[in-house]
Amino acid sequence: MKRFPVVKTEAEWRAALDPETYRITRQHGTERAFTGRYWDCHDAGTFGCACCGALLFSSEAKYDSGSGWPSFWQPVEPSAVATDSDTTHGMRRVEALCAACGAHLGHLFDDGPLPTGQRYCINSASLLFEPLKNEPPKK
Ligand code: FE
Repeated sequence: MKRFPVVKTEAEWRAALDPETYRITRQHGTERAFTGRYWDCHDAGTFGCACCGALLFSSEAKYDSGSGWPSFWQPVEPSAVATDSDTTHGMRRVEALCAACGAHLGHLFDDGPLPTGQRYCINSASLLFEPLKNEPPKK
């Protein structure tokens, strides 16, 4: 069992999160494709962990994978996202987790675009988007 810096009990997580976020991030759930809030988000900004707020991904590495889930070809820092082997549902997959709190984010595949060839397939419910603050429009 991996150890994470941000530790809460299951009761604390359940109290802190809405039921869907709790189900996905703390119980390894998955949102249905094309239903999450960010799969079709093309805005500039950053994506933090929905559980602990740790910075995970930037819109600069987000791309449209066609999967119906937010997809990134790299995290903001290699150390921001932890991985684990996942053999549930009759598949061998690599699970992606928040390295700070252990939130289940989604899965990591090796069919992504260059330059990394990686695809972080992430549940919208595991993320919170922070838009880039724009300069006020010039008159
Ligand atoms: Fe987290």
